[in-house]
Amino acid sequence: MEKTLHGWVNNVKRVGKIIFFEVIDNLSLKPVTVVIKKGNEDLWNKALSVKIGCAIEIKGFVPKKIISKRGREIHATNIVILSSPLEPLPIDVTGKTGAMLDTYIDYRYIALRLPKFRAIFKIRAGIVRAAREFLENEGFIEIHTPKIAGAGAEGGATVFTLKYFEKTAFLSQSPQLYKQMMIASLPRVYEITPYFRAEKFNTPRHLNESWGIDVEMGFIDSEEDVMILLEKLIRHIFSYVIKNYRNELEILGRDKIKIPSLPFPRLTYDEVLSILEEKGLKIKWGEDLDSEAERTLGDIMAKRGHEVYFITKYPWSAKPFYIMCEKDISRAFDLDYIGLELASGGQREHRYDVLKENMIKKGLDPQDFSFYTEAFKFGMPPHGGFGLGLDRLTMVVVGAANIREVVLFPRDRTRLIP
Ligand code: ATP
Ligand code: MG
Repeated sequence: MEKTLHGWVNNVKRVGKIIFFEVIDNLSLKPVTVVIKKGNEDLWNKALSVKIGCAIEIKGFVPKKIISKRGREIHATNIVILSSPLEPLPIDVTGKTGAMLDTYIDYRYIALRLPKFRAIFKIRAGIVRAAREFLENEGFIEIHTPKIAGAGAEGGATVFTLKYFEKTAFLSQSPQLYKQMMIASLPRVYEITPYFRAEKFNTPRHLNESWGIDVEMGFIDSEEDVMILLEKLIRHIFSYVIKNYRNELEILGRDKIKIPSLPFPRLTYDEVLSILEEKGLKIKWGEDLDSEAERTLGDIMAKRGHEVYFITKYPWSAKPFYIMCEKDISRAFDLDYIGLELASGGQREHRYDVLKENMIKKGLDPQDFSFYTEAFKFGMPPHGGFGLGLDRLTMVVVGAANIREVVLFPRDRTRLIP
């Protein structure tokens, strides 16, 4: 049976009277071995002119007996070079010679011809699909809130400003305020969204443009309801990826990853402080955990057999104004994976007066946020939610050490192009 194959030539090899191409098939994105045997002069000469990197059309037939180890093979009867590279490729698509991460990012569109990079971005897409599938099944409605905002989500935090006609606007750091406002009518919402943060980060886990899976739910009893949802979501994502991306996980050497078991441990902030103190790391009560503290705790928890765990009951001083608190303890939690923060969430303050008081305590002027506080006047139920970092979750699933490996075109302190 004759077959037509479209794709890119990733490797060319000549062994005596046979030429082999490795072609990535444009439909399956899997490599196919193309075999050209000497005999037909025209075809042979065409095959000799094929370069690594060509976009190509091959017509041929699948032989009865397949020589290629991959098991996908076609014997060519016709070759059409659709587009030949003007220069040698900037990345070795045979996979023999590696390159710097920066080169892979600069030439992402070529790097993706290598199976390991395709695997990362296919899994990333799978994570998003799994999250949608789970949240839709749980009755959440997908929303889209503005990314150009007239007020910063957390007031003091660093925001990018932009000129908006006669006014100054901000790029949204998170959909926090808008998703909460929705709870006045839609008690289960989610948004898969970029976060823009203007800190001068220089770490392997921060970008200035990152993506999050942001969830908010109403009529909760406490932040525990939110944590239960989040741990179910994480488990669903892991099981979805393990089920549907076995081949990709294998390419990345991640075929051993396991679905974290329930319940994820819950450590209070106070417990974390005493665990760290035993290791000689002293954190002043009330301060946020820095990355050294996070990593030390991550190692200890991993040794105890827990890669994923919650940190609960943070001091209110370390958390934003919209988090509910009792005296100085907040109803906020973080979800960490071996010392890497994947998500932050909690129960929000839904009582109009208390919310305004809390804003003042955090040094904010409630007047600046009246578009938000107004929504709390008309039957706002108790609610809570979380922001789960999509890039960070992808890192832990694919086993990447640097967030830039899992983002097509990362935006960091120095990188704005491509
Ligand atoms: P961190 O303390 O790690 O800087 P954060 O507490 O400022 O993060 P949140 O506001 O809690 O971040 O955002 C929710 C989630 O979004 C985080 O847990 C993280 O997974 C992800 N996230 C936030 N900021 C960034 C960023 N700059 N780069 C990558 N991911 C981010
Ligand atoms: Mg956080």
